[in-house]
Amino acid sequence: MTTASAKKARVFITWFPIARAHMNIEAAELMRNKAATLFDAGLPCGREATMVKYLASEAAWEAAEAAMTTFGGYGVACEYDIERKWKETRLFRTAPISNNLVLAQVAEHLLGMPRSY
Ligand SMILES: Cc1cc2nc3c(=O)[nH]c(=O)nc-3n(C[C@H](O)[C@H](O)[C@H](O)COP(=O)(O)OP(=O)(O)OC[C@H]3O[C@@H](n4cnc5c(N)ncnc54)[C@H](O)[C@@H]3O)c2cc1C
Repeated sequence: MTTASAKKARVFITWFPIARAHMNIEAAELMRNKAATLFDAGLPCGREATMVKYLASEAAWEAAEAAMTTFGGYGVACEYDIERKWKETRLFRTAPISNNLVLAQVAEHLLGMPRSY
C-alpha cells in the first residue's frame, strides 16, 4: 500500500526509507530463519530469538515511519489505517521485551561488556 502510494505520488524523498525498511525486513527474516532452524534442531536459540525480536520490531517501526512520511497528513486520518500501524509497531519496540533490554543482553552476554543496569 505504501509502496504503491509512493510510486503514484512520485514522492522520491520517501523511496529511500521504503527501500531501507524492505532490506531490514529481509534481514530480520534471515535471523528468524536461523533461530527457527536452531530450534528445530534442538539447539540453543535464545540469543538468535532475542536478536530477531529486536531486528523485526525495528524493521516494522521503520516501515511504519516510512508509511507515515509517505502519507503525510493523511497518515493520521484513521481511514488510511496508517496511524494504527504506526502506533502498534511502536509498541513492538517496548513489548513483549523492551529493545533496550535486548541491547543490554547482547552487550553483556554476547559481547562480554559490563552489566549496564
Ligand atoms: C502489550 C504488551 C505485552 C507484553 N507482553 C509481555 C510478555 O509477554 N512477557 C513479559 O515478560 N513482559 C511483557 N510485557 C511487559 C514489557 O516487557 C514491558 O512493558 C517492557 O519491558 C517495559 O517495561 P515497563 O513497561 O515497566 O517500562 P519501564 O521499565 O518503566 O521502561 C520505560 C522505558 O525505559 C527503558 N528502560 C527500562 N529499563 C532500562 C534499562 N535497564 N536499560 C535501558 N533502558 C531501560 C525502556 O526500554 C522503556 O523505553 C508486555 C507489555 C505490553 C505493553
